[in-house]
Amino acid sequence: MAKKYVVGVDIGGTNIRTALINLDGDIVSKVKNATGKEPLSVLYKQLDTVYAPHAREVCGIGIAVAGLIDREGGVVMKSPNIPKLNSVNLAAEIKKRYKTCIAVENDANAAACGEKCAGAGKEFKNFVMLTLGTGIGGGVIIDKKLLPVAAEIGHMSINIDGPQCPCGNVGCLELYASATAIIGTAVSELEKGKSSILKNSVYF
Ligand SMILES: [Zn+2]
Repeated sequence: MAKKYVVGVDIGGTNIRTALINLDGDIVSKVKNATGKEPLSVLYKQLDTVYAPHAREVCGIGIAVAGLIDREGGVVMKSPNIPKLNSVNLAAEIKKRYKTCIAVENDANAAACGEKCAGAGKEFKNFVMLTLGTGIGGGVIIDKKLLPVAAEIGHMSINIDGPQCPCGNVGCLELYASATAIIGTAVSELEKGKSSILKNSVYF
């Protein structure tokens, strides 16, 4: 059967998303669930739904993970926001269940590749991609190719007297500017009695 899809997976600190994508880069179907305490079980359920029915038409599964990745071995070396995946050979685990080509990449690097292939970076030779979510990631494209390093821009220290980050460093950018940090700062300021229109929001 002709190959006409790829499967893309994003394993983040908050959610896991899996999508079936055609070779033009359009999403055909997608699912999203909370990462929870057992990220691999969530991933397998999603692949059973999205990948399995089309297995013979899928070229491979690309998996983006928030963390430090050994892309050649397909191993998650360290993931500060998903500690359950630390030292897990994700490619080998997934290959036990699904017989297809598996690629594992840092999430920000994968996002940079995605923007280069099918998004805002298509026309550019060189650019930096920043991902703002549970954490902050960064991927660098130079001369149309991914710079094969963990840019980890979110773990750049911007305050040497700042709080300790789960990565071990202090005052990391993502402790201030990630979605998690911004929500945390807003909640803490409101609790201290700061006046804001956010107080009228249903969330507080
Ligand atoms: Zn950090």
